[in-house]
Amino acid sequence: MKCRKCEGTLKVLRRCRQVRLQCSSCCHEYRIHEVAADLDAATEAELERYTAIIYD
Ligand SMILES: [Zn+2]
Repeated sequence: MKCRKCEGTLKVLRRCRQVRLQCSSCCHEYRIHEVAADLDAATEAELERYTAIIYD
């Protein structure tokens, strides 16, 4: 999925107890709940691997 700021590609970024989406272009980080409405299927599938992690 795309960054809202620059249309760069967002990648899933795992922190110790958190998951973020980070833009590979401008490096802006999004919390999952910020972009939940826009998640595409591929990103959702990737996030499912982290279901044990609490989304804050
Ligand atoms: Zn960006």
